[in-house]
Amino acid sequence: MVGGELFRGTCGFIGEIRHMTIDPEGNLCGDGKRGCWETYVSLQAVLRHVRELLPEASSGKLRDRSREGSISLTFDEVVLPGSAGDPAALRVMQEEGENLAIGIGNLINIFDPELEVLGRAPNLASMFLIPIIESELKPFVLEPPAQFVLIVSSAHGADTCLMGGIAYMLDDFFSASFLQK
Ligand SMILES: [Zn+2]
Repeated sequence: MVGGELFRGTCGFIGEIRHMTIDPEGNLCGDGKRGCWETYVSLQAVLRHVRELLPEASSGKLRDRSREGSISLTFDEVVLPGSAGDPAALRVMQEEGENLAIGIGNLINIFDPELEVLGRAPNLASMFLIPIIESELKPFVLEPPAQFVLIVSSAHGADTCLMGGIAYMLDDFFSASFLQK
């Protein structure tokens, strides 16, 4: 949101921040590019990391779900074992927070926002991730913006993208340009 209105960009692709390049030599993304932020912070990236750390996973549930390669695994299902002290889950969440901090730091430097909202991550995951992001953010941001930005989780949780799409459509519907058509 900029000035209380949705910021769409020239072609309407402003929301594709997940495809900003973090490492040109990095992981291959679904769009054919390498090193997109998404490949480090998405649920698939979390699952991949869980599998890599499988020998250390002390939680049966985390181990079983990662073996299944289940796409329904949620952040909470990684965080819950972490809250019980599972070292593999804690390492995954630490890396997730660090990678989120890199991208969020870039966004803060570009937009100087008042608020950064974590979408789709349920509250429990956000409780873990936000303190990690805040502690890892400093190397990636200029001092003044970082002092004022507030990082919170979306009130809509897993429905964040859906609610954003609805807001986008409603904004279009009620805009002056639409009514003039
Ligand atoms: Zn990409």
